[in-house]
Amino acid sequence: MTPETIAIIGAGMAGLSAADVLRQAGQAVQLFDKSRGSGGRMSSKRSEIGALDLGAPAFAAQDPAFCAALRDWVAAGWCADWTAAGNARSCWLGTPRMSAISRGLLGDLPAAFSCRISEVFRGERHWQLLDAERNVHGPFSHVIVAVPAPQAGALLTAAPVLASRAASISMEPVWAVALGFTEALPCALHSARFDGEILQQATHDSAKPGRDNRLDTWVLQASNRWTRQYLDLSKEQVIDRLQLAFAETLEQPLPQPEFALAHRWLYANPTHRHDWGALADSRQGLFACGDWCLDGTVEGAWRSGQQAAQLLLASL
Ligand SMILES: Cc1cc2nc3c(=O)[nH]c(=O)nc-3n(C[C@H](O)[C@H](O)[C@H](O)COP(=O)(O)OP(=O)(O)OC[C@H]3O[C@@H](n4cnc5c(N)ncnc54)[C@H](O)[C@@H]3O)c2cc1C
Repeated sequence: MTPETIAIIGAGMAGLSAADVLRQAGQAVQLFDKSRGSGGRMSSKRSEIGALDLGAPAFAAQDPAFCAALRDWVAAGWCADWTAAGNARSCWLGTPRMSAISRGLLGDLPAAFSCRISEVFRGERHWQLLDAERNVHGPFSHVIVAVPAPQAGALLTAAPVLASRAASISMEPVWAVALGFTEALPCALHSARFDGEILQQATHDSAKPGRDNRLDTWVLQASNRWTRQYLDLSKEQVIDRLQLAFAETLEQPLPQPEFALAHRWLYANPTHRHDWGALADSRQGLFACGDWCLDGTVEGAWRSGQQAAQLLLASL
């Protein structure tokens, strides 16, 4: 690591988008993520029945620059257009699983996984990072914090204005449940959003392009309100409640699933949109980005990462 290396904390869409711009500008970057792999809320979980997209099931694209990036990802084989699957809006996803997009963007960039950063501090000239195991990483010329707002505040204490902006954001939780059936469910739609009290979305995961799930697999998402109310319910109870809500929505009983799994996202989506783009303390060389700086979407995370990197490059 040279003192010119730029540290990026968070290897989700925002951090990887920033890394991509910086790499193309000839800068050296080093990514850190507390998870075992990249992708964050766009990651896929390995399971005995195949990979499951438990976070963002798909995403929309409007921004011309993001649409251009999507065309490159489609050409690289990481991404596909799923708009035809009965979705009203443009709809994209990773192939053969959502995490293919982050894996593609990561490429051979240096990254430390299972590495939770707990502190970002400055020596006389350079930044250093302290991880949860008390290891120190650095020196770095600049740091980009690309984690959900509630986790960003503690990493931005050196820049109080940025830290207070992150602290002003509240993010909502979502329970997600994957169900695997031996027979196909009688449901014509592959993806549907609901206004119900419990269920917010159902996605036919095994019907997405390139999937090889062993069972007919659906991923259900609970509403923010219901998840908040039942945050500490056991996973078994959450599976039962969402399965029942899905059956009520389909107006018919469901067969017993052969496979079921629940995952709780504590920071799934911000409650409000912002138009911050990215946050910068250019004098100190500390930046923040993430979906919470814009509209809480995959596209917003990508745009925020691009803007953080551009602000950093403009400060050199
Ligand atoms: C259930 C669900 C459904 C969704 N549906 C949609 C949808 O339909 N359409 C859409 O556009 N978007 C959707 N989203 C939102 C979308 O997934 C996010 O907007 C986007 O992925 C956020 O990217 P990000 O890089 O900002 O954050 P993240 O993906 O959260 O990445 C942040 C990364 O930082 C890491 N990290 C956190 N703290 C630390 C630390 N201290 N040290 C090191 N690493 C750390 C995390 O492990 C993570 O990998 C959904 C999300 C969820 C959870």
